[in-house]
Amino acid sequence: MYFQKPNLRANDFPSSSPSTWGTVSPENWGDWTWQLRNRIQTLEQLESRLELTGEERAGTILAGKKLALGITPHFFGLIDRNDPNCPIRRQVVPRIEESYTAPDEMLDPCGEDSNMPVPGLVHRYPDRALLLVTDRCASYCRYCTRSRVVSGAGEQELTMDMEGAFSYLEKHPEVRDVLLSGGDPLLLSDAKLNAILTRLRQIPSLEFIRIGTRIPIFLPQRITRELVTMLKQHHPIWMSVHSNHPKELTHEVRSALERLADAGIPLGNQSVLLKGVNDRSDVLKELFHKLLLCRVRPYYLYQCDLITGSAHLRTTIREGQEIMEQLRGHTTGYAVPTYVVDGPGGGGKIPIGPSYIVGMADDRVILKNYKGDVYEYPEISQTRLAGLRG
Ligand SMILES: *Cc1c(COP(=O)(O)O)cnc(C)c1O
Ligand code: SF4
Repeated sequence: MYFQKPNLRANDFPSSSPSTWGTVSPENWGDWTWQLRNRIQTLEQLESRLELTGEERAGTILAGKKLALGITPHFFGLIDRNDPNCPIRRQVVPRIEESYTAPDEMLDPCGEDSNMPVPGLVHRYPDRALLLVTDRCASYCRYCTRSRVVSGAGEQELTMDMEGAFSYLEKHPEVRDVLLSGGDPLLLSDAKLNAILTRLRQIPSLEFIRIGTRIPIFLPQRITRELVTMLKQHHPIWMSVHSNHPKELTHEVRSALERLADAGIPLGNQSVLLKGVNDRSDVLKELFHKLLLCRVRPYYLYQCDLITGSAHLRTTIREGQEIMEQLRGHTTGYAVPTYVVDGPGGGGKIPIGPSYIVGMADDRVILKNYKGDVYEYPEISQTRLAGLRG
């Protein structure tokens, strides 16, 4: 008989409380500008709060040359200081493996730089474009696919020509969907973001605007009433957040997501499949269930890009497919994202199944269901139609 493990933690949204930090007032802790000012950005700051392994220490010394170290007090508070393999820690504390380059790794694994008609505007798909509006984030993910330009530490600078991007979009009415990204767009001030959204809304061919952000997870205090009131002036606005592990969904994060959802902003989530972080179906299932409780629909699960220095965080695609097989059909359909790989070098997102089609012929398709049982779907065909008439 099929037996499902009882889900013990889906309703559990613990708090990342100021007590994890030491002396700070609840007012400061709840103030996003305090959180930003007090980010962990140096080896000294990190070491004073966390006992580093040799790999982490060496990695942090080198981080300044590639992708800066940055961790908000809120996110830092989620780290289990006694566990060097803590899934939160693995995402934001640098490791020496980041300085190794495995074969086939690239600085620009999605080939974005060659798809930029205007600096900062990636136009790869026929009807949608990606607008990079800043190179800064609240915290830095060690596997960031855009680490070549994000954080200001690497050799390459993000150049942006916002006016050029607006006039490109005006001249290309086939683009009906613009995705604001970066860096993290919600790190801009309300006024700057308002100006960008207002300008985009003057372009009649633009129907759909979405914002890709990890701020609700890294810095939930940033999701203020003022911000959501401004955002909802520009509806329809959609948002894709980025969370990878159920521990990230704290009480504060849930409240931030609820403020966004209450403002009528449909929320999706993008996760990256990361070795030692979330490469288990029970971990992802718990994450996706908790997201549904926060009114966030799991949208994509990304195979980790071939970004330079990511080999220690990558799984195989086969492993990813096995995880997906343990989700699809075994839980709420809304909790199951599409598993995709960004075609290396610039192929765009490619769904990588697994496939439930076992075989296809002119007259039938052989399928398997989530339990592996085989079913046959007879195709309507000319012969069959003729048989009906005859
Ligand atoms: C991901 C992405 C988009 C959006 O793709 P959707 O599948 O519509 O979410 C658009 N442009 C670029 C360059 C992207 O990488
Ligand atoms: S929040 Fe996004 S852009 Fe910023 S470091 Fe993480 S993955 Fe990269």
